[in-house]
Amino acid sequence: MGPPGAGKGTIAQRLCESHGLAQISTGDLLREEAASGTELGNKLKAIMASGQYADDCLVAQLVENRLRALGKKKGFAEGKFSQGFLRKQKGFILDGFPRTSAQAEMLEGMLEKLGLKLSAAFDVEASDKTIIERLSGRRSCGKCGKIYHVKNIPPKVAGKCDACGSSLVQRDDDRPETVKKRLETYREKTAPLVKYYREKGLLKIIDANGEIEQNMENVKKTLKGVE
Ligand code: ADP
Repeated sequence: MGPPGAGKGTIAQRLCESHGLAQISTGDLLREEAASGTELGNKLKAIMASGQYADDCLVAQLVENRLRALGKKKGFAEGKFSQGFLRKQKGFILDGFPRTSAQAEMLEGMLEKLGLKLSAAFDVEASDKTIIERLSGRRSCGKCGKIYHVKNIPPKVAGKCDACGSSLVQRDDDRPETVKKRLETYREKTAPLVKYYREKGLLKIIDANGEIEQNMENVKKTLKGVE
């Protein structure tokens, strides 16, 4: 969890690289779906461009499909992969999911069905000032999704992805009007989840107002004791 632009995606990406975890980003899954040109894709595009959330059941289904696909990739038979999943695949980070109370409940059901459990829930915190500065400079690779910032995390060659050389693009929903709506949606729908995970004893709060390296240090501190 964390407001748009707090750095969830960047932190998740770094942690996945350093710990060998799989990153499951619902924003990326939805953007993929939105780019497909189908009727559903076009609907999603409009929802995301207006700063609202996609349908809970649809997002939960995309996550479950991805978890199952990960299990299969590791060679476990359907329905059986969960026993070996965490041994072989070191784990996964859900980036941007759950975002509503309904999604949190669906996640619980899904994990139970798959025999998996959550180790922690991270609340990535940043002020409105930080958020607006970050989102206006954010760019991402149109092909592999790697995230950059024109000032804070510049690519080696301006406008090109370090990893795959494709062009960097600005997301439609990073325009100022949409950012305002995304912040409102976050406060109304997702902020209550912080309490939900605090009560479950899973909550870890990360101060993400600083530079990325400082924020990663904050993450590392909160990771102590997480299995
Ligand atoms: P950010 O968190 O910076 O807004 P994301 O890439 O995580 O960026 O999400 C972009 C958009 O995708 C959201 O504004 C929302 O419309 C949609 N989205 C992502 N995750 C979810 C989710 N779990 N439930 C509903 N909509 C989602």
